[in-house]
Amino acid sequence: MMARILLIEDNPQNRYLACFLLERRGHTVMQAQTGQQGLDMAAALRPDIILLDIQLPGMDGYAVTRQLKSDEALRHIPIVAVTSFAMQGDQAKCREAGAEGYIEKPINPQSFVAEIEAFLARPASPGAADTI
Ligand code: MN
Repeated sequence: MMARILLIEDNPQNRYLACFLLERRGHTVMQAQTGQQGLDMAAALRPDIILLDIQLPGMDGYAVTRQLKSDEALRHIPIVAVTSFAMQGDQAKCREAGAEGYIEKPINPQSFVAEIEAFLARPASPGAADTI
């Protein structure tokens, strides 16, 4: 299943690697460098899934997640947080904000695309944010 993926990530090297791995498998990747740009692109482009860095300048990934999940038109789009925070409880914090998934950095090139595709394969659930 080819997907239109919105990647919100401020680090160019991380963007390059994620983009390379996903496009190699035939997915289309749209890139945003800030939370606000990501919100604007999500509204305009309606991606199939959003990969979201948590440590972003200005609006962080938690705030971006909360905004997306409070928008009726966008809340169905699965969000996978991609973060280098290795702290215990960070995954819970992502889920509390409304993210459906969580991947730790550094991303593993061997498994990254399969992990993303597993989220795409899930049936859409209108109340996804409420069932976590
Ligand atoms: Mn970052």
